[in-house]
Parts: sequence; C-alpha cells; structure tokens
Amino acid sequence: AAPLSAPRLTLRLAAPRGFCAGVDRAIQIVERAIARFGAPVYVRHEIVHNRHVVERLKAMGAIFVEDLSECPDDRPVVFSAHGVPKAVPEQARSRQMTFLDATCPLVSKVHVEAERHHAAGREIVLIGHAGHPEVEGTMGQLPEGAITLIETVEDAMAFQPRDPERLAYVTQTTLSVDDTAEIVAALKRRFPTLPDPHKEDICYATTNRQEAVKRLADGADLVLVVGSQNSSNSVRLREVALRAGARDARLIDDASAIDWDWFDSVRVVGLTAGASAPEPLVQGVIDALRARYDLDIIEDGAARETVTFKLPRVLAEA
Ligand code: SF4
Repeated sequence: AAPLSAPRLTLRLAAPRGFCAGVDRAIQIVERAIARFGAPVYVRHEIVHNRHVVERLKAMGAIFVEDLSECPDDRPVVFSAHGVPKAVPEQARSRQMTFLDATCPLVSKVHVEAERHHAAGREIVLIGHAGHPEVEGTMGQLPEGAITLIETVEDAMAFQPRDPERLAYVTQTTLSVDDTAEIVAALKRRFPTLPDPHKEDICYATTNRQEAVKRLADGADLVLVVGSQNSSNSVRLREVALRAGARDARLIDDASAIDWDWFDSVRVVGLTAGASAPEPLVQGVIDALRARYDLDIIEDGAARETVTFKLPRVLAEA
C-alpha cells in the first residue's frame, strides 16, 4: 500500500486490453507443441511480438529463428501468428518437416481474400507497414507484382494501377483505424469503383483496443501502453492515445521501464496493453503505481470480447 501521505492519482484502466484470441492461440500452440513433441520446438519469428512471452517460451524449450534454413529437418517448427509467405510451408513440406501454423485465422482470412481477388484478375493494394512480417506474409501469398504495398496517403496518391477498374485492397490487421480510413478515402477519390472488403481486415482486437484507449485518453495527463517496441498494434495504441488528447503517452515493456519523471504534475493516468502483452505485466504496473500513489482506479466496463479460435487438431488434446 502507498504511504499515508501519498499523493492521489486517478488510474483509468482500458477495457478491453491485452491478449486477443489470435495471440492466445499462438502461444498455446507453442506450449502444446513442446508438451506433445518435447523440446526443442523451433519457432519461425517471434511467435507474437512480446519480449516477455518470447523469453518465457524460450525457457520452456522453444528456439526462435528467423528463417526455416536455421531449423533441423527432424524437429517441429511453428509459424508465428503474423503469417508466412506461401514458400515457407512449401519448403517445410519438401523437407518433410512437422510444422504447425500459428497464423491468426484473421490474418489467414486476409490471405484468402487476396487470393480471391487475384484469381478474379484484380490488381491488389495492400495497406500496411513495410518490413512487418504480416506484410511479408500477405505479399508472399501471391506471385511478385500481384500486390503493391501502400503505407501512406502520399503513396495512395502516387500509385499507378495497371487498370483502375480492376483493383481491390486488403490491409494489415493491426493498423490505425483512422489512418487507414484516410488512405482508403484517398484511393476511392481516385478509383471510385474500388470495392470494400466483405468484412474489415483490421481485426476486432485492434479496433476494440483503439476505441478503448480513445475513451480514456481524452483528459489524461499520461497514457501507459504495455507492449513491446516491435508490436504494431501496441505502437498504434500509443499514437491513438496522443491523437485522442493524452498529454503524453509511453510504450513500456513492463513496470521496470517506467521513468517516474514522466509523472511530474500528472493526476490522471490511462493504462492499456497491446494484444500481445500478458495481463500480469499490467498488474505489475498497477502495483508499481500503488506503491507511490493513493490510487483511484476507474475501469472502463464497455466492451467484452468472446472471440476464441480452435487449435490445430494434432494439438487439441496435448
Ligand atoms: Fe489476430 Fe488481431 Fe490478434 Fe493479430 S491482433 S493475432 S489479427 S486477433
């Protein structure tokens, strides 16, 4: 508990926050693969973009690599939640490896959509961030040149399609909802017949977490986002918080990353977590605040999430 004379601090807790169904499933796939096949189990790329999750799985017997060429033929390999180019499972098959695909079903949905557009003869625009593994995975579903990556409104203005009447777009699942709407609007001004996806590509978890952080950012002196620097959806949460009116916003891996200088003249703090950040880290931040402040916690009770995804059949009983 805080000392008797501790200053007061209002803590607005976001809901929903933290793990999404795709992250939960991906982590379970690695845990159950280790239980079923024994250690080591190889994982191509960080299973989800969170330092704590990766360290915990390493301690359990996971070995993280960036390329399939770093894996032996005779150990199982898991593909990360972000998805992989088609060539990766093809290679694994040709090497007769056991592989488990932890690609989030909502990323796979985007892959299927892209394939459908391509089969219908449409040129595809992918809205996303260069270098992110999800973008590499989505682009790698189709032959080179089938998909053009667009990152900004400027890119949308400069894009020269082969045939403006035969265009479609898909997006990365973890983008800023508002930035993406601007890019889509720019494309539609130039190409009015551009069709929308049947269902938004930005996933429910990204959308809900951005809405929740907006609700608590207005009037907050500081918003803390628990998440790792390479987590796309966590980085977006910080940006959304600033744009929604937070005076300051910081992305932290855990409580130890807090710099107490940020708290000068701070009375209202917002707290959320990216889709790959475990809840105990959020609780750790609350504990650190409680040790210094007389906390008044307000939890936003709005959205409840009930989405779950099935595990691959070979692991369902592990
Ligand atoms: Fe799936 Fe969305 Fe979670 Fe990514 S953030 S793993 S797309 S549910």
